[in-house]
Amino acid sequence: MEELFFKSAKELSQMLAKKSISSLELTQIFIQRIQNVDSKVKAFLSLDEEKSLQQAKASDERRSKGQTLSPLDGIPIGMKDIIAEKGQSLTCGSKILEHYISPYDATVTEHLHQAGAVLLGRLNLDEFAMGSSTETSAYQKTCNPWNLEYVPGGSSGGSAAAVCSGEVPLALGSDTGGSIRQPAACCGIAGLKTTYGLVSRYGLPALTSSTDQIGPFAHNVTDLGLLLKVIVGYDDRDSTSCEVEIPDYSQILKDEYKPCRIGIPKEYFAEGIDVEVQQTIETTIEFYRKSNYQIVDISLPHTPYAIPVYYIVMTAEASSNLARYDGIRYTHRSSEASNAMDVYFKSRQEGFGAEVKRRIMLGTYVLSSDHQDAYYVRAQKVRTRICEDFAKAFQDVDVILSPTAPTTAFKFGEKLNNPLQMYLSDVCTVAISLAGLPGLSIPCGFSQAGLPIGLQLIGKAFHEHELLSVAYQFEKAHDFAQRFPKLN
Ligand code: GLN
Repeated sequence: MEELFFKSAKELSQMLAKKSISSLELTQIFIQRIQNVDSKVKAFLSLDEEKSLQQAKASDERRSKGQTLSPLDGIPIGMKDIIAEKGQSLTCGSKILEHYISPYDATVTEHLHQAGAVLLGRLNLDEFAMGSSTETSAYQKTCNPWNLEYVPGGSSGGSAAAVCSGEVPLALGSDTGGSIRQPAACCGIAGLKTTYGLVSRYGLPALTSSTDQIGPFAHNVTDLGLLLKVIVGYDDRDSTSCEVEIPDYSQILKDEYKPCRIGIPKEYFAEGIDVEVQQTIETTIEFYRKSNYQIVDISLPHTPYAIPVYYIVMTAEASSNLARYDGIRYTHRSSEASNAMDVYFKSRQEGFGAEVKRRIMLGTYVLSSDHQDAYYVRAQKVRTRICEDFAKAFQDVDVILSPTAPTTAFKFGEKLNNPLQMYLSDVCTVAISLAGLPGLSIPCGFSQAGLPIGLQLIGKAFHEHELLSVAYQFEKAHDFAQRFPKLN
């Protein structure tokens, strides 16, 4: 029973099916685990024990009547505190939403309820998902479970750290430029950024509307597929939701093993990539080569522009999206304000942290009438080139392979005062977000210092099943998905 909290969702689901454990017992075990380790990891912003236990009891009742809703019925899951859950906090990691309680469920939350999952608590993130270390959260600094002196990555650092430390078997995060993949890599777990339009964004407060996506975190690829199956689907409440045929992601892994063509983009192995990361990824490429995959050298020539383009588009959209936090409607309102303008200025001044303010200013600048053509419009043109690079590459290959992040996790404070250094953490992930493509990260090795290294697989739009299947071949030949940090 002791190591139950490191079991995969699939294994737990089988235990529930065999009635060797109840959802109530399982939920209690995870709550106990959170109580034991979260004072160190600090992944959770809040935990609603009573509600979770009720959901677990309801799941057990359904099971006793033979009315189980899905393989995830009765399985605990954690939610990044930027995905709306009725009656729960939705701080987005910001003081400006400190007392805000969501009046409605996000579409993904509804899907989880329909699947019978037990929603355990709310997980920490960088303020408004801006960051790569979870250090910009207004509430607490989440630690990397592999070494508590290191960051867990970000912005979904709470979700990644919670799964990694066995506080919850599954979690949801959001990814705008790397926020699922990079923390998954830093924490040595599996994470998937879905194709833009596959998962509804309804109930995900907008940061960068043209790239934001919700996606799963799990201990392994099979579990990613299980959770993905539950959250996907067309939603008329999200105007960017796509109506596409959904493959059975859990079936894919059972399908006959089909090697395919894997592209290696030379620009992702350029300057700035840590030597240990580079060597580990090269070993991974060798694995695929030996496993009869065709390895093809490719070029994505506009890659060097991905970071500047992302930080123009991202800040432009964020400055506009964050205008709604004005102290008038549902946000923090300054008690110092004496007139209407004061309410706007002071509430935002007090409510937002430094990184959010920096991006609002940058975004306002690049959208200003004098500079729009030079920055925003030009960035959108280069973005089109980035998309074309991928389209061209995917004529010759099925999947693209790269490191997820240029380095392993870094220490607290190392990059916080150097925004450019922090932004470079996303050098391997942002282009994929700009192009709306799916990207998956799994652990593929460890550094000398004992920190995980992530492998990124990039797919054609709506080809998540292919990413899962290629990742699965690597995962089942290695033990990285069964390595867990010691926290005691
Ligand atoms: N780290 C990137 C940023 O700060 C990506 C964040 C995200 O994906 N939400 O913008």
